[in-house]
This record gives sequence, structure tokens and C-alpha cells, in this order.
Amino acid sequence: AKAESLNGPHYFDYYLMDKLHKRINIEKKLPRAMAEGEFELHYQPKIDTSTLTLTGFEALIRWNDPELGLVPPNNFIPIAEDTGLIVQLGEWVLLEACRTNKKWQDAGLPKLPVSVNVSAVQFKHPQFVHMVQSALEQTGLDPQYLELEVTESLLNTPLFIMEKLDSLQEKGITLSIDDFGTGYSSIYYLKELPLQVLKIDRTFVRETPSSIRDSSLLLSIIQLGKSLGMTVLAEGVETEEQFNFLRDNGCDQIQGYYYSRPLNQMSMEKLLNSDPS
Ligand code: C2E
Ligand code: CA
Ligand code: CA
Ligand code: CA
Repeated sequence: AKAESLNGPHYFDYYLMDKLHKRINIEKKLPRAMAEGEFELHYQPKIDTSTLTLTGFEALIRWNDPELGLVPPNNFIPIAEDTGLIVQLGEWVLLEACRTNKKWQDAGLPKLPVSVNVSAVQFKHPQFVHMVQSALEQTGLDPQYLELEVTESLLNTPLFIMEKLDSLQEKGITLSIDDFGTGYSSIYYLKELPLQVLKIDRTFVRETPSSIRDSSLLLSIIQLGKSLGMTVLAEGVETEEQFNFLRDNGCDQIQGYYYSRPLNQMSMEKLLNSDPS
């Protein structure tokens, strides 16, 4: 009986305990990491499918913990959302992204928009629009060079967010819908809300063009975005076949390992330096 108890169920318990400990560990460490400045932003280029030129870059957060090493965002963003720390963390991301973009522009590098991911929790904070405005004022970045990426889950409270999206758009900021196709936004809201860019989630790209089903879904989403007058960008493009399919089917922009992985600040700067635009 003793030997048996070491099987299956116990293994599973240990696994859960381990996950729980890791979570508690991260939860405990986050506030200090914030205070110690252990976060940095990497940047992933976005390119135009017909000209292959840079159209902008997305800021992606990285946490460099002295003990844990490099912790990927999916391991701490959800925790920061639960504890509410995402508001402070998101404010730092906004400031850092605007500051860096402004610095590059002042150095004579091409003027391109930086995209910042905004979590629903952060967006719903009553001071959110003020925080964005303040980041632009503090850094002196022109609002046309800031893009905010929001996810579909926000769109199920449309009346509440409509006002905020409108006032951000009125400032000249670009608004994108991220991970499109994984949530449940209705076409009505897509039509009514001031969203200029539709970012197709990489799950639709992964098996294109080999899967006929995924390819035709991808096509429909591109067409949906285009008929709504939006700029359509596909995420997670890794292969030449995927790129060709997207370019040939009217997808405006791509992002993915095919062109570039997310780059640290120095490498992004080098890329901007070599950009002809
Ligand atoms: P996301 O916004 O959908 O970002 C794209 C993710 O896909 C990034 O992962 C990026 O490194 C990865 N990626 C890019 N191209 C490819 C590709 O060709 N193939 C594959 N397999 N992956 C690719 P990352 O940096 O680990 O970020 C994960 C998620 O964490 C992001 O997904 C975003 O939701 C969240 N995140 C990152 N930075 C921030 C931030 O500053 N604030 C908030 N609220 N969330 C963030
Ligand atoms: Ca994003
Ligand atoms: Ca995405
Ligand atoms: Ca995603």
C-alpha cells in the first residue's frame, strides 16, 4: 500500500505544490523587482508585407530576476493582474516605451510607432487615460508614435470602454486589437469601436498554408479586417510559406521570427539605424 501511494496521485500533488510555490515565490518577488528595476523592454519589429520595411515595433516586457533568471511575461503578468501590481508595472512599461522611442527619434532614427500591450485590468483603472497622457507629456513623444494593444476580452464591456477608447483615439494614439480570433468580439463592436489595427493571433498562422481549414479561416479574418477598413497584421509568422501566403492574400503587415525575434534595446537600435525609411 505504501509503494502504491507513491504512484500517480502523489506525483500530481507534488506537481501542483511546485506550481503553487513558484506562484507564491513570484508573487512575493514582484513588488521588490519593481522597486529594484529588474524589468526591461525588448522590441519586436513589424513589417509591411509588400515593401518589407519596418512599420513599427512592439514593446515586450522581460523580467531579469537574480535568482530565477529571465522570467517570461506569461509567468508573471497574470499574477501581476491578480495582485493589482499590473497598474504600476503597466505605467512603467508605458513610460519606458515612450521614453525609448523619443530617445531614438531625437537621435535621428526613423520615426515609427511603438506598441504597448495593455492588460484589461490596467485599461479599466479609472486613471488609465490620464496615465497615458502623462507618459506622453513626461517624455515628449508625439501621440502618433504610440499604439496601444488591447485584447478582445475588453470588448465585452463596450459602453464602459467606448469613452476611453474614443478619448485615446482623439489624442491621436493608434488602437489595436491583439490576439484577434481567440476571444469573442462581435462584429458590431469591431465596427463601432475606434480600433485601427487588427492583429490576428498566431494560432491561425501556425498551420497555414498546410492546413486548408486554418488557411481559409485566416483568409476570412483578413477579409473581415479589410472590410472594416482596418490595417491587418498577422502575428507569429515563422516561415517563408506563411509570409508568402499572407502577402498574396492582402495581409498588410506581419510580425514574427521569420523577420525578427524580439530584440533588446541595443539590437533594435542597430536595426533602426540600418532602416532605409
Ligand atoms: P503578445 O502580445 O501576443 O506578444 C507576442 C508574443 O509572441 C511574444 O511573447 C513574442 O515573443 C512571441 N512571438 C513573436 N513572434 C513569434 C513567432 O514567430 N513564433 C512564436 N512562437 N512566438 C512569437 P512574449 O514576449 O513571451 O509575451 C507573451 C505575452 O505576454 C504577450 O503576448 C502579451 O500578452 C504579454 N506581454 C508582454 N509584454 C507585456 C507588457 O508590457 N504588458 C502586458 N500587459 N502584457 C505583456
Ligand atoms: Ca501584443
Ligand atoms: Ca498578440
Ligand atoms: Ca498572444
